Amino acid sequence: MNSNVLQTPIDYLKGVGPNRADLLRQELGIHTYQDFINLFPNRYIDKTRYFKINELQRNSSEVQVIGKIVHLKMVQQKRGKRLVATFTDGTGEMELVWFRGHKWIKESLKLNTPYVIFGKTNWFNGVFSMPHPEMELLKEHEQSLRTAMQPVYPSTEKLTNKGITNRVINKLMQQLFVEVRTQFYETLPPTILDELKLISKSKALFNIHFPKSQELLAKAQYRLKFEELFYIQVQLIIKNLIHKSKIKGFPFDQVGEKFNDFYTNHLPFELTNAQKRVIKEIRNDLGSNAQMNRLLQGDVGSGKTIVALMSMLLAIDNDFQACIMAPTEILAIQHYNGIMELVAPLGLNIKLLTGSTKTKERRVIHEMLQEGSLHILIGTHAILEDKVQFQNLGLAIIDEQHRFGVAQRAKLWRKNTVPPHILVMTATPIPRTLAMSLYGDLDVSVIDELPPGRKAVKTVHRYDSNRLKVFKFLRDEIAKGRQVYVVYPLIQESEQLDYKDLMDGYESIAREFPMPEYQISIVHGKMKPADKDFEMNRFIKGETHIMVATTVIEVGVNVPNASVMIIESAERFGLSQLHQLRGRVGRGAEQSYCILMTSHKLSSDGKTRLETMVQTSDGFEIAEVDLKLRGPGNIMGTQQSGVLNLKIADIVKDNDILKTARYYAQKILKSDSSLALPEHKAVRYTYAQLVKHKNIWNYIS
Ligand code: ADP
Ligand code: MG
Repeated sequence: MNSNVLQTPIDYLKGVGPNRADLLRQELGIHTYQDFINLFPNRYIDKTRYFKINELQRNSSEVQVIGKIVHLKMVQQKRGKRLVATFTDGTGEMELVWFRGHKWIKESLKLNTPYVIFGKTNWFNGVFSMPHPEMELLKEHEQSLRTAMQPVYPSTEKLTNKGITNRVINKLMQQLFVEVRTQFYETLPPTILDELKLISKSKALFNIHFPKSQELLAKAQYRLKFEELFYIQVQLIIKNLIHKSKIKGFPFDQVGEKFNDFYTNHLPFELTNAQKRVIKEIRNDLGSNAQMNRLLQGDVGSGKTIVALMSMLLAIDNDFQACIMAPTEILAIQHYNGIMELVAPLGLNIKLLTGSTKTKERRVIHEMLQEGSLHILIGTHAILEDKVQFQNLGLAIIDEQHRFGVAQRAKLWRKNTVPPHILVMTATPIPRTLAMSLYGDLDVSVIDELPPGRKAVKTVHRYDSNRLKVFKFLRDEIAKGRQVYVVYPLIQESEQLDYKDLMDGYESIAREFPMPEYQISIVHGKMKPADKDFEMNRFIKGETHIMVATTVIEVGVNVPNASVMIIESAERFGLSQLHQLRGRVGRGAEQSYCILMTSHKLSSDGKTRLETMVQTSDGFEIAEVDLKLRGPGNIMGTQQSGVLNLKIADIVKDNDILKTARYYAQKILKSDSSLALPEHKAVRYTYAQLVKHKNIWNYIS
């Protein structure tokens, strides 16, 4: 099939016309024949079975029956009338009922003529009835293209109200197949079709709309899901390739003085194997001629900072500047202090730039940056301001990348005439499944190993009724010199209520842990920043034993002496938040604990979340469960990508197909990056079509 035909506006399809075309455009985004063909059914009704009336069950769902109408009458009722037909198939009688459209139905119904009816049945006073059945003359039923598996298309209320019912869509789809003569251009290369035993595009499209059997439907679904995921991967990989060939980076070809000095003389600990591997991956990137664009994933506490630092040393060794940008001031300060301490012996010029940096200091920083005497700039969004100009920025690192938008990342790019190498780091584990689709165009490094000696945080779930025991446990821990967090949820809509919970909680804790023996900090969103910092610092310095807080402590705080994290109303937190909070403890040498407090009332999802937390501390595993519970729409970073616009594949359920698709896309592009080989003609053509018709999504970077 010549693909031009598929670009025909939907208005031209027989039976559509301008009104229906408008509706299809508005409600379903269908502009062309192609769009319409890609309107895949949500589900199928199995019409393989014909029921006899005497087989009907009181609670059977939708059924299909063959029979005749033998009698038709109007029945007056309190409000309006109903039209009732007596329908029989020789085994029994049932009623067909209409509450609306009487005139039209009465005129069109044929008595004593075989019909196939379909619908839900009700049972009342010993009689089965079917309101507003779907009806088709048996003769037509036998001839029509419709098949045993009846597709149910996505629709909207407006469409149904305007008469574009599922049935109409079905009819239009038949018409479309007639017009295009059911021949579709094959989009996959013969090798893939062979190896995976996929059915052809034509056969797949036909059977997705008019499945001849369950088996063919399954094959059609597999083939179309594969194709969809395959072309996402092709697009991502090509984007990555183009990026690498077009965008020359600065080759950092020297591993020089600073890096080596630090590595041999000042490394405070032995790097984990994962850290070594990741540093090697980054070094390879930086040493090549292409600009690096790498995502570094590593759970809380896995040691990303040192990796970031050593990458920056590589930049400095090659006479470039580096910067690191964090989402909050607290985090930026922590990076600054940590890095200053690590590289103190190297004699580097490092500065901190945040919203609270004084004008005078700012001016100094701007100057040092431009004359090139500043080696490393650490800061918040403030780095993005136009006034901040580097002499030669070679590497930009973004911490907790999901907190920054695409535009902000793009801004970093333009800090130089040649874009700097970019390393984005995240502790929010992105499920592998999703990462492949979201970040398929970034190179990904993973630190999947915690530094040695870390004891896993012991996590338990306790009911509110056990609170006294929990308090006793806290007293014991505090007696050993440990500190404790108690965290309350704060969710926007119920802010007042949450605030009250927090204050009530604080009071009861203050009663249990009276002054002067015990000191308590409290931190919440309604406090002035200065007060917050004051309280936070008291806790960091060990002057207070207990920190009562809302989730403001989620990012940033690092208190290795804190060994207990109590999360109140834990069922109200999402999995990734629970995981982040738990990451606040277990940072020191002591055994740490996370106690999830809830009432007895738990939803099944809530239970799953708590069980997951108790069972595992692997951030990736937790992220996978989160993805299954919430769907991809709510996972960080998906909103801006195309994964939600998938037409047939499901990023969670079709994980295996995704992997296969990625494997084949990589294989093809590795051997033939410009898709020039004759056997890749179909891929080249289809890819070009996707680009042309704007199906290329706007991925990050
Ligand atoms: P994150 O990945 O969460 O940013 P950090 O880089 O802050 O983690 O590291 C967490 C803690 O672990 C820091 O105190 C750091 O000094 C320490 N650390 C990092 N790598 C190692 C290692 N290989 N051996 C021992 N401690 C390490
Ligand atoms: Mg960090």
